[in-house]
Amino acid sequence: MDANKVQLSSMRVGMGYDSHRIEQGGTMILGGIIIEQGRHFVGHSDADVLLHAITDALLSAAGLPDIGQLFPNDQAENRGRDSAEMLSFAMAKVRQTGWDLVNLDCVVLLEWPKLSPIKSELIKRIAEILQVGPDLVGVKGKTGEAVGEVGRGQLAVVHAVALLYRI
Ligand code: MG
Repeated sequence: MDANKVQLSSMRVGMGYDSHRIEQGGTMILGGIIIEQGRHFVGHSDADVLLHAITDALLSAAGLPDIGQLFPNDQAENRGRDSAEMLSFAMAKVRQTGWDLVNLDCVVLLEWPKLSPIKSELIKRIAEILQVGPDLVGVKGKTGEAVGEVGRGQLAVVHAVALLYRI
């Protein structure tokens, strides 16, 4: 095997996606931080749509079972579960499997609140959960331009991609 092929076989990419409905009341948690009071993401766990997509991207890149298999949403112990704890568990499993993070990038589709003022806080928190430097984490916020479920503020969608290298 030539040197290029050896290098390629020591890296893997994974994609994660999640969406959660938005309803009135409660607390909106995104990327492990409270971003708004008075509205919330609906879900069985704490419904952190960003951490769920990141968790799936990492698990997928490492060839591990997905978040729904690790933490089934019909099990009582996963009700209201802290997604930061799930992500931390997933990252530990990724490392146990012999992989670590090259970088991670995410696109958050959310009409409001605007993410730009809290972007560095989001990145810092995600990096802290993963125990990596903040330079390895990218987060971009996009609105739905007032069109569709995202644009009407009914839904949040996140796409995440993670690149891993073999330890
Ligand atoms: Mg989810």
